[in-house]
Amino acid sequence: MSEKGIKIASRISRIPSSATVRIADQAAELKRQGKDVIDFSAGRAAEHSPLYINRAAALALLNGDTHQTMAQGTPVFREMVARKLERDNGIKADPEKNIIATLGCKNGLTLAIFSTVDPGDEVIVEDPCFVSYNATIGLCGGIPVAVPLREENEFRWKKEDLEGAVTEKTKAILICSPHNPCGTVHTEEDLDVISDVAIKHDLWVITDEIYERLTLGGRKHICLATRPGMAERTITLMGFTKTFSMGGWRIGFAYVPETVLGSMVILQQHMMTCAGSFTQAGAAAAFQQDYHPEVKEMWEEWEKRVDYVTDEINRIPRISCHKPEGSFYAWINIKKTGESSVVLAERLLNEQYIALVPGSAFGKTGEGYLRMTCVKSRADINEGIIRLSKGIS
Ligand code: PMP
Repeated sequence: MSEKGIKIASRISRIPSSATVRIADQAAELKRQGKDVIDFSAGRAAEHSPLYINRAAALALLNGDTHQTMAQGTPVFREMVARKLERDNGIKADPEKNIIATLGCKNGLTLAIFSTVDPGDEVIVEDPCFVSYNATIGLCGGIPVAVPLREENEFRWKKEDLEGAVTEKTKAILICSPHNPCGTVHTEEDLDVISDVAIKHDLWVITDEIYERLTLGGRKHICLATRPGMAERTITLMGFTKTFSMGGWRIGFAYVPETVLGSMVILQQHMMTCAGSFTQAGAAAAFQQDYHPEVKEMWEEWEKRVDYVTDEINRIPRISCHKPEGSFYAWINIKKTGESSVVLAERLLNEQYIALVPGSAFGKTGEGYLRMTCVKSRADINEGIIRLSKGIS
């Protein structure tokens, strides 16, 4: 508030800051003060984006690809995305009618929510869920309705839980698979539960599939949009941030029904104009053929790290960790420590110099858990596990 008492909009004063970004910032500040902090908080791998993708973007930049593109994204980018969707996901998308380039999955989320949710509408969300979902729904004037994902149900919804949350104000369901933070990968049965409810009550479904290439133990990701009757009501968000370690590029895409594409493009024209020109060129190269060996090796190595971290956590008394089915997080049950997730996370940061995210940042049901990113360097992981063990005991 200024001296004259001018207030900022209530819309923003209701929204908490992003806990993951906040903790990563705190860790960065401790590092700046010379502390040897290891940051397991943000969902950021140790690896940089692959060289062949960097080269494609650099070449585009050097060749003068420095101007705005169509708001929907360049035809080349959308064509490459369509090829990827057909090859990996069994989706036949029209690059003109079904695909929009976004500035990361988060921008896709904003476009999707602002295109489908009116003020006062309810949106059913998983609890815990990615930190930006409730905030984005709230900014739009929507009301998030949390339906818990419980460990005893393997972090999956039961049909009666979902059905019980639907009211006449429900407009959409927002889900994530592979899940951040719980690591659930939806099976056909899980998707049937969601499809049945969405079709019965005529709801939109926004599905965040940013971790779709990062399934573990040989599991296969299934796109909700490929299930019967779902293509026309499903907005699928995907991206490059996780799969290719390209979080700084701010590039992603959405696969959407033709009926909603125009609204998302209008919003994009006014909000962002378009995704970056040379970032689209680089990202398009990511999908040129089958995945580059450099990328496949990185994914295989990540799976080993997730396995290793979760096994090591299970050796530490009083904490435990189920094996994630996808994404790259350990979702650590800390209930036996008797400390709240915020208190424990702060203690681990200030005493052991390791940053993990308190589970409560992801929703009420997240209390009693900490989230740890497993795809840090081997050296950081080894040291991090030692410190975690010390901090817990
Ligand atoms: N969705 C989920 C589930 C995420 O975990 C993240 C990143 N932590 C995002 C979206 C944001 O992705 P992007 O960087 O592509 O905006």
